Amino acid sequence: MSATIACPCGRPRPYRTCCQPIHRGAAARSPEELMRSRYSAYALGRVDHLIATTTPGGPADRGDQAAWAEELREACARMRLLGLEVLDAPAPTGDSATVRFRFRAAAGGGVATYEERSLFHKRGGRWTYTGTAEPEANDG
Ligand SMILES: [Zn+2]
Repeated sequence: MSATIACPCGRPRPYRTCCQPIHRGAAARSPEELMRSRYSAYALGRVDHLIATTTPGGPADRGDQAAWAEELREACARMRLLGLEVLDAPAPTGDSATVRFRFRAAAGGGVATYEERSLFHKRGGRWTYTGTAEPEANDG
């Protein structure tokens, strides 16, 4: 019996045809795809992918890769991800884009919902994660 492992990113596809190729080095085709692959990487402890897809020199770049990897490993171990929902992924403006998403995570005996708007940049044909985007202008 072979079980199909659903991808942690929530798309109704098996991991091996969804986020795994990106974890193995394929370029994400869109900021949303990169964001999903990073969520899956958190869920699976693929710390190498998280570091490799962070915009170098950006606010999320921690510099010291060994210490950074250790921090990420601890974060992955501490938190159990329970589901991702992409709320808004507008078409990129030139080489930058944002993706707004919500996820649920269990940590320290409780479950919490987080919402974030992430900023992505394209460099050398690849999207990378830069950091948390400024809040959207809200007209009410
Ligand atoms: Zn996936």
